[in-house]
Amino acid sequence: MGNDVRGRCPQCGAELPSDDRFVVWCVECAWNVRGGADEFEEDAGGPVERFRRRLSRAYGEELFGRMTSARPPRPLRGSAYASAYAVAGFVHLLTLAVAAGGVWLAVTGWEAVLPAVLGALLLGLAWLMRPRLNRVPRDGVRVGRGDAPALYGLLDEVADALGAPRADVVVVDGEANASVMVAGFRRRAVLTIGLGLWEPLTPQQRIAVLGHEFGHLVNGDARQGLFVGSACRALAQWYVLLRPDDDTRGLGLIETVARLAMYPPAYAALLLLRLLEHLTLRASQQAEYLADDFAARTGSSAAAMDLMDALLLVDAASFWLHRQGVSARTVHRGTGGREPDEAVWERLREYMASIPPHEVERRRRLSVLTAHMEDSTHPPTHLRRAALAVRELRQADVVIDVARAKEIDAGLAPARRELGRKVLRG
Ligand SMILES: [Zn+2]
Ligand SMILES: [Zn+2]
Repeated sequence: MGNDVRGRCPQCGAELPSDDRFVVWCVECAWNVRGGADEFEEDAGGPVERFRRRLSRAYGEELFGRMTSARPPRPLRGSAYASAYAVAGFVHLLTLAVAAGGVWLAVTGWEAVLPAVLGALLLGLAWLMRPRLNRVPRDGVRVGRGDAPALYGLLDEVADALGAPRADVVVVDGEANASVMVAGFRRRAVLTIGLGLWEPLTPQQRIAVLGHEFGHLVNGDARQGLFVGSACRALAQWYVLLRPDDDTRGLGLIETVARLAMYPPAYAALLLLRLLEHLTLRASQQAEYLADDFAARTGSSAAAMDLMDALLLVDAASFWLHRQGVSARTVHRGTGGREPDEAVWERLREYMASIPPHEVERRRRLSVLTAHMEDSTHPPTHLRRAALAVRELRQADVVIDVARAKEIDAGLAPARRELGRKVLRG
């Protein structure tokens, strides 16, 4: 974008901000706030799409009202949860029924060959249909207790303050995100910290992030994830198994009929999966508001609200990191004096700090404009921030001083190096 765009707003004549790294728009009249992207337009898409968006927006506003009321719903309560549990229960029962049928046929039909074979087939089917557990993510760097005692010290302090289980495994990756899950048969609590989010935050905002993630563990959102999530994964598996090949050319009549007969069960599985996803999205939006409460309790309301502002910028962080990789691979830097890989995180921090207030404001307005454009696991960021502001303001339960923050950083140094290399060299 050339410099000639700078100057005055073509719509209202107000002075325009001039930072040509970012979209030029007018804070006064919102001219070009979307930066020319029409997919954000309210009336984009067909009538069905518009109707779905209206429903989605109405739901989002209703949920915001409910979550900021005097008596917000408790964790894992509400009709969306109940329905999701019912559908997931049906899926698990179906698997059990297939397994039980297999056992029954194999046992009672032992003498005859056909029932025994059928029973074995059913058991095999039940095995393919089985619910699957979460696994510890393979991407990223595992940081053990021994590697980062100060980091785990902080995690334990946050967990204890909230009455949450302590983290068993920490995985650090390069994403602009953080998450928590319970993995495997041993039900280990796995915390994933994305440096793209973590690095630019202040220590107090980091504590707010941790409060939010451990808050999910307190609220049992991972437990919901086990029962419902395993049903989702099973349904996806069923669909893959059942989905017939569209191409029926060269097939005999019987084969074609058999293949057509696969469509109803395959699409029934897909439909159930979509239904379950829809229900869990609603439930997980509720869970996010509740987890934000824990962010305010641990890190303070002020830090949690600052964190929301930082969340508005995660796309900018991801994009910037992506660009670093591209330019590192295509541009030959001068020989000698090449910066160490981990310096990319320091530069990310500088870049994020350099984003001007008018761009932060633009992204806040975009959050409003694009709210409920699509179903999302998280409520729109501006509503999460508003919910924090409406609730009783809290002081921080956990604080750390500069020395401790440095110790915590030191424990992450090997991960910063390795992930910095990954960002730059893929
Ligand atoms: Zn204007
Ligand atoms: Zn969350």
